[in-house]
Amino acid sequence: MRLEGKVAIVTGGGSGIGQVIAEQLASEGASVVIDYVGSADGAEKTAETINKQHGKGEIYLADVTSVEQTKRLVEEAWSRYGSADILVNNAGIEIRADFWDTTEEDYDKVLGVNLRGPFFLTQAFVRRLRAEKKPGRIINISSVHEDMAFPGFSTYCCSKGGMRMLMRDLAVELGPLGITCNNVAPGAIITPINKSLLENKPKLNALLQNIPLNRLGEPKDVASLVAFLASDEAGYINGATLTVDGGLMRNYHEQ
Ligand code: NAP
Repeated sequence: MRLEGKVAIVTGGGSGIGQVIAEQLASEGASVVIDYVGSADGAEKTAETINKQHGKGEIYLADVTSVEQTKRLVEEAWSRYGSADILVNNAGIEIRADFWDTTEEDYDKVLGVNLRGPFFLTQAFVRRLRAEKKPGRIINISSVHEDMAFPGFSTYCCSKGGMRMLMRDLAVELGPLGITCNNVAPGAIITPINKSLLENKPKLNALLQNIPLNRLGEPKDVASLVAFLASDEAGYINGATLTVDGGLMRNYHEQ
């Protein structure tokens, strides 16, 4: 198995894409620390699925907006498994609001989870790797909206655009330490974050028309790429955003 002996930390591992990433990494041999904040039942289910398949997965409650808790999340990987090799910054939220109605609270919430969280969690992870002169992998679950406009979601776009530049900076700054950093940018994936879209047939059909593969993505479409990026086969990939969107981003055409 290509991730045998590796240890991964996955944030937001009790729901949606993070849940399937945790399961996928474990199925390829990694021991996984499954972070959650609200989805205790979901995180338990992730661990159960992993353990049933004879993998190793343990849950840990850490709110990524708290620098203290992110430090403890990293320490937890070392105390449970003796080390960590892979960090998947998956936790993310979105709040819908027209730009002119967006509140300070909306801004702080979205940027807090989607950008400040990965920033300081990655810092804690890198400090530990650096102290031990260990290589590592940082994989951020960004979005096509690190690049593409999303009217009504300016805070989300700010956070994912920030994540794109953070990844590019870290690829250069951490490369000499043997630590790579890449983003995976999903398009529209079937998860709870898209509940209102999935319930709105006309909106959903309009979106499907823009996706060349004419279907929404599944969490496993994202998880299989994350497992590849975490593996030795991807050792020379650094500073890249890889999209998983069925061709959505390339589908501009003249009417
Ligand atoms: P989801 O099912 O709603 O998952 C979001 C996850 O983020 C949950 O597990 C949640 O944990 C976690 N989270 C939220 N606030 C947190 C905090 N303060 N600390 C720790 N964890 C926190 O949605 P998803 O689609 O799987 O989203 C996963 C990632 O994919 C996000 O970064 C999202 O932006 C990105 N993405 C999704 C799509 C899509 O179409 N689904 C497209 C592009 C990008 P709890 O459940 O424990 O609260």
